[in-house]
Amino acid sequence: MIGKGSRGDEVVDVQRKLATLGYSLGLADVDGIFADETEHAVKKFQRDHQLPVSGEVDEGTWRELVEATYKLGDRPLYLRTPFLRGEDVSKLQSWLNALGFNTGAIDGIFGPATERAVREFQGNVGLPSDGIVGDSTLDALHNLRNILESNARVEFPERLTSSVSLFKGRNIAVDIGHGHLDPGAIGPTGLKESEVCEDLGLRFGNLLELLGAHVLYTRKREQSTELSERARIANDARVDIFVSLHLNGSSKTEAAGTSTYYFASGNRYSRKGKRLAELIQKELLSSLDRKDNKIRGKNFTVLRTTKMPAVLVEPVFITNPEEERLLRKEAFRQKIAVAIFDGVQGYLRGCER
Ligand SMILES: [Zn+2]
Repeated sequence: MIGKGSRGDEVVDVQRKLATLGYSLGLADVDGIFADETEHAVKKFQRDHQLPVSGEVDEGTWRELVEATYKLGDRPLYLRTPFLRGEDVSKLQSWLNALGFNTGAIDGIFGPATERAVREFQGNVGLPSDGIVGDSTLDALHNLRNILESNARVEFPERLTSSVSLFKGRNIAVDIGHGHLDPGAIGPTGLKESEVCEDLGLRFGNLLELLGAHVLYTRKREQSTELSERARIANDARVDIFVSLHLNGSSKTEAAGTSTYYFASGNRYSRKGKRLAELIQKELLSSLDRKDNKIRGKNFTVLRTTKMPAVLVEPVFITNPEEERLLRKEAFRQKIAVAIFDGVQGYLRGCER
């Protein structure tokens, strides 16, 4: 039992938990001494949690304090009575709400509305919708964490959750144009095409996965894979769409703007690839508002040797000082990823009709 007059690490532990939960410890703060203000906070906590209000930390209060301060991932979350409560539940609720899955109030209580939101989320990312937040559900959420945590600063595709039927079960290859051994073009202040492409690839891939698509990355981080090998990987996996991510580069630093490529050689060209390129280019132009360098038919290896509709995207020039500066901004990269995503979405919508 910890109460008035107790001192030491145990008190520090109790005080930390109370502070984490937003209970004021007054000027004393976390000092390891159980005095009036700590007692006051304990009483308030007990009242809020329907515990006997003794002002002392007995076993029941301690258990409740531990439960309330769980971090997401410390324990599985699911619907049971009494309802699970805690910081982990609040975090889960705020993430789900940010994604458009309505949990009701962010109150840290795992009730029926939260369970419904979990099931809906699981269904959307292709997981069994059992309502239990365990490792696989957390992995799916963690994949999206970077995007979610920068939610305030970045743009989300509109009506994200309405497009699930378009993406669910689709296989989409994300070809990150350059890796560490092969940095690609380099900007005036040293930004590498490889770093930006990797980030763009993950952002784009996260959006696809969120909507239930399977994403095949044709190369792993820090790995170099031959162009023809990357096409073969996509062909073997029979992906539906292939998107290769690059940035443009030029020795003329004034060169700037957006272009998207599809396969063409002589008088042969990929009709579907061209359509996909048109839609992505249109989204990039309206979102980024850079110069229109048009869609172009090219005989690039990854476009020629892939069997599915394939495009290679160069959203801007990394060698242009202004565009390099934009590329350093997270919000701008997210805009690129969202625009490419929206282009793919438009293409899939067209295929449905
Ligand atoms: Zn490149």
